[in-house]
Amino acid sequence: MCHGFIHRCSRADDQYKDERSSYFNLPSLDVSVAFPQATPASIFPPCTSDYYHFDDLLTPEEQAIRMKVRVCAERDVAPIVTKYWEKAEFPFEVVPKLAALCVAGGTIKGYGCPGMSITGSAVAMAELSRVDASCSTFILVHSSLAMLTIGFCGSEAQKQRYLPSLAQLKTIACWGLTEPDYGSDASALRSTATKVAGGWILEGQKRWIGNSTFADVLVIFARNTATNQINGFIVKKDAPGLQATKIANKIGLRSVQNGDILLKKVFVPDEDRLPGVNSFKDTNKVLAVSRVMVAWQPIGISMGVYDMCHRYLKERKQFGVPLAAFQLNQQKLVQMLGNVQAMILIGWRLCKLYETGKMTPGHASLGKSYITQRARETVSLGRELLGGNGILADFLVAKAFCDLEPIYTYEGTYDINTLVTGREVTGVASFKPAASNQRSRL
Ligand SMILES: Cc1cc2nc3c(=O)[nH]c(=O)nc-3n(C[C@H](O)[C@H](O)[C@H](O)COP(=O)(O)OP(=O)(O)OC[C@H]3O[C@@H](n4cnc5c(N)ncnc54)[C@H](O)[C@@H]3O)c2cc1C
Repeated sequence: MCHGFIHRCSRADDQYKDERSSYFNLPSLDVSVAFPQATPASIFPPCTSDYYHFDDLLTPEEQAIRMKVRVCAERDVAPIVTKYWEKAEFPFEVVPKLAALCVAGGTIKGYGCPGMSITGSAVAMAELSRVDASCSTFILVHSSLAMLTIGFCGSEAQKQRYLPSLAQLKTIACWGLTEPDYGSDASALRSTATKVAGGWILEGQKRWIGNSTFADVLVIFARNTATNQINGFIVKKDAPGLQATKIANKIGLRSVQNGDILLKKVFVPDEDRLPGVNSFKDTNKVLAVSRVMVAWQPIGISMGVYDMCHRYLKERKQFGVPLAAFQLNQQKLVQMLGNVQAMILIGWRLCKLYETGKMTPGHASLGKSYITQRARETVSLGRELLGGNGILADFLVAKAFCDLEPIYTYEGTYDINTLVTGREVTGVASFKPAASNQRSRL
């Protein structure tokens, strides 16, 4: 009966199509033909958002990294990413270009990794995000989460074995913490690791794991059934019992392949257990760096949106003048510009606090929450400024607007990061309702 219904529907669809005009179902016009008055993001606008000369705060090496990544992102990434974003496919053709930048591995020294300063790593992240947040998330998960976990918590043999090819993007990694039932409350996760002869058996489920559908190396966290503590494991692609399927219908970071991972009695040999992860707290060193990196994504996104709006307002005319001539539009543009300067300075200060060993979890969380909130305001102003084209991915702003939403949520939601800072400045944890007797595990 069900099949009969589908058959009737598709017959009806065909009939409607037959009744339509001769141009019904023709492919869309290229946006530059359909709308010649303004340049789309495939030809990326020049950087006008760095109003306070951020370069002056960077070392010559960091300035060089910034320019190298900017040139690559504008030249190699911008022309192709919109179509992948629209199709929700990963742009594998970009991987060799990103590999040539030598930024994967970020701050890790040795093992073929670049050993950049955290500021250098952060500006690379921002420059990629400025053009395409999906590409920057791909690098973030691979480098600042998975590689860094191996770098901080792996054995010498694991570092030598895995990091060199990950640094060259010859192999790709993902980082699996979140589970369907444990998101903000990730430290309560329920996937298990049981000791057996020669290794471990992993059982459980993970959700939202970026790059997981094609990763060669999967860093997976699971609860040790003997100690009840969280341990970390390196699981390899195609391990028997492992399955990763793509989460469909996302509205943001559409090119990132986020997966649901199933672990059904997956055997991991002893040599692939990360010796440095013996409790959830052991991930803190990694999260400290990755939270700074995540904070630089909205900075880059907001810069790109400002740059796009700045060009668009001068190109697009209404009422006989460029949109830039309207006071209301100038006010929005300047509000965006002010946000970008404040975000950059907070992000930069966060890097300096980290470099001098002074950064606390509260500092990093305030940076991430404040910056994402300002970015949300910035991209929505940008979306307004572009009118109808503000909902088209071709002009960057709509894509950036959508991409910011998952960033607002991942690596600790805005709320959770606010509560981390709140706990630090008041000395009182408020993650659990006051009525709850359970101790906060965050
Ligand atoms: C695109 C994308 C990519 C991701 N990539 C990865 C990845 O690669 N690896 C990985 O491990 N995870 C990844 N995640 C998961 C991400 O870290 C979680 O989505 C995030 O931690 C929030 O968890 P949740 O979605 O379950 O929301 P929930 O925890 O269900 O929260 C829902 C809402 O309740 C609020 N809330 C929850 N607890 C509290 C509280 N105590 N007090 C006040 N408010 C609260 C939250 O702030 C939020 O607004 C990704 C997520 C997305 C969307």
